[in-house]
This record gives sequence, structure tokens and C-alpha cells, in this order.
Amino acid sequence: MSIDQAHTRLAAIASLQVTRNEPLARHTRFGLGGPASIFARTGKEEAFVAAARAARESGLPWMVIGLGTNLVAADAGYGGIVIRYDGAAMEASGLVVRAQAGTALQDLVDFSAGEGLQGLESMTGIPGNVGAAVYGNAGAYGTSISDVVGFVRYFDGDAIREADNAGCGFRYRDSVFKRSHLEGRHWLILSAEFRFQPGDAEALQAKAAGILEIRNRKYPPEMKCAGSIFKNLLLAAVPESARADLSTSLVKGGKVPAAWFLEQVGAKGLAIGGIRVTDYHANTLYNAGGGTAAQLRELIGELKRRVRERYGLILEEEIQYVGFEGEPRL
Ligand SMILES: Cc1cc2nc3c(=O)[nH]c(=O)nc-3n(C[C@H](O)[C@H](O)[C@H](O)COP(=O)(O)OP(=O)(O)OC[C@H]3O[C@@H](n4cnc5c(N)ncnc54)[C@H](O)[C@@H]3O)c2cc1C
Repeated sequence: MSIDQAHTRLAAIASLQVTRNEPLARHTRFGLGGPASIFARTGKEEAFVAAARAARESGLPWMVIGLGTNLVAADAGYGGIVIRYDGAAMEASGLVVRAQAGTALQDLVDFSAGEGLQGLESMTGIPGNVGAAVYGNAGAYGTSISDVVGFVRYFDGDAIREADNAGCGFRYRDSVFKRSHLEGRHWLILSAEFRFQPGDAEALQAKAAGILEIRNRKYPPEMKCAGSIFKNLLLAAVPESARADLSTSLVKGGKVPAAWFLEQVGAKGLAIGGIRVTDYHANTLYNAGGGTAAQLRELIGELKRRVRERYGLILEEEIQYVGFEGEPRL
């Protein structure tokens, strides 16, 4: 199907807002990325599912995005269909909260802490929506969203299904949903049910406020970035030769911070064009103004090369690329 035909088909779906040549820079926190040929968004679950069906049947490349806080979109844009789901209803009963995938994760964190529901308070300040947090098994300060997921409702291309926690196949920053995407199957997360422990609302809110203050210093709200660029490393995957320099105090929960290796190879403060590594955290790259996605890719490639050459380690990106298909792997 041509882009024009796909546009006509999507535009006929009720409650779906469809635009042509929508700049992805408007939908990514890096503020980078050229136009998506077709951009479709909706707050209605039926329209989200119908859009995905139509996108699949079009034979064109297609993908789902959330709030764009973990995405690097190519300067040339994306020659296909981008779908965004904004459904953001939440409902609570006892220790259980159900949230639609488009709910801001922060709203779920604030709501649960305020209701005295313990489990997500350490995840305050992680930007993005609930669907993407489940997809990437987001986490911070020793908590991952997988710790509280009861069930996830998702659309696998044929039908709406439900996966329990085990069925989500969670791993570090990974899930069955992310793997489906990497394998080209694009399962859509529609909503999720979270199960909490009883707690004290004031204590949970105070804990969250303390964490938020630290996070806001590290990632000021206006910073055009994606948090950490690279995943931390499982100690077991670090070659013996690279372990020699490592102090045991660096290892937390069986993982070594990628930032430590990056710091040893002089990453802090490095810049290519408008893209910089912060002076205080070697795994945080940001668009200081006027940067391009090509510069960001180049800087990421340079950092990977340095760590590979010095330690024999392949750093793996936590961020997701959009529109770089066909370009050589970094
Ligand atoms: C300042 C800052 C700090 C950060 N700190 C952390 C942190 O501490 N811990 C952490 O884990 N992450 C962190 N991140 C990364 C980011 O917040 C998470 O990856 C977040 O979950 C991305 O959410 P999003 O809505 O922006 O998703 P996007 O970046 O838009 O998309 C991410 C992926 O999710 C998929 N996706 C989105 N919605 C759906 C859906 N409904 N169904 C299926 N797939 C979907 C997309 O296809 C895409 O591949 C940080 C980012 C920033 C900018």
C-alpha cells in the first residue's frame, strides 16, 4: 500500500487524529528527528488497535511511541506510520490499580504513594508513560516496574490477550513486549494492573520527594536527553580482563554501571557538534542546542568504540533508534 492509501485508510478510523510529515523532534525529549510520513494518535483503545491493524496490513514500516523520552529519531525521519496511544484512565480497588498504557508513569507513582500503596515510590521522576515503562521494564533505585505488575492487557495482532507477570518475561530493561518489537511483531500494550503492598502515604510521599530532588539535579526537567544512553552491565557478562580495575563497591545488584567504564575512557564533557556528555555523569548525553541525530549517533559510536578497545566490552544501548534501519550497527 502507498503512503497515500495508508493515510486514507487511517484517516477513516473514528477517534484517530492523523497527520502527514509530522516532525518527530516534537515528540522526542532530545528534540531531534525529521518527519514521520504518517503520525496517528488517539486516546481510545479501539482506535489504537484499529490503527495497528491498518498499519500492519499496509505493509509499510510502522511503530508505536510513548512520550519519546527513550528515543533517538533519525534526522531524515521515519518513512512509515508512527502510532501513539494517549488513553490515560486509572482506577483503584484495594491494593490494585489499573492504568491505561498512555497514563504518565509519574501520575501512577503519585497516585499510588498518595493512597498509601507501596511499591512504585522509588520510581518517581522516570519520564514516559506506563506502556513504555512495562515494555522496557523501567526502574530506578533498586525497583523495577516488574516488581508490581500483576497483569498486562495487550494486542498481539490477532486478538487482545492478557499476560500475568511471568508471561511478561521481564528481564533487566527488557520484556516479552520489547522482544516482540525487535522481532517485528509489535505487540501493543493497552493497559496494566499493578499490585501494591499496604504502606503509609506520608512516608511514601516523603521518600518519593527525596528521590525526585536528587533526580531533578541530575536531569533538570528542561534537559534534552534520554536519561542513560547505555544499559548497565551484568557482572557475569564483564570479561575477566575488564574486571581487574573494578572495585567491588561498584557492583550493585549484580550489575556494574556503564558510566564507570565510560568515565575511564574520558567520556565526561566529550562533545560532537551540539551533542554533549554531561560533565558529571558519563552515561548521560544531551542536546545542548543545535545538535543533530547524526551527531548523537556519532558520539554514541565513539563511546562504544573507546570502551570496546580498552575493555573488550560491547556496551548495549538502552535507548531505541527510530528510522536508522539499513544503517550499519554501531
Ligand atoms: C531524564 C530521563 C531520566 C530517565 N531515567 C530513567 C530511569 O531512571 N530508569 C529507566 O528505566 N528509564 C529512564 N529513562 C528512560 C525513559 O524514561 C524510559 O525508557 C521510559 O519508559 C520511556 O517512556 P516513553 O513513554 O517516553 O517511551 P518512548 O521513548 O516513546 O518509547 C520507548 C519504547 O516503548 C515502546 N512503547 C511505548 N508505548 C508502547 C505501548 N503502548 N505498547 C508497546 N510498546 C510501547 C515504543 O515502541 C518504544 O520502543 C529516563 C529518561 C529521561 C529523559
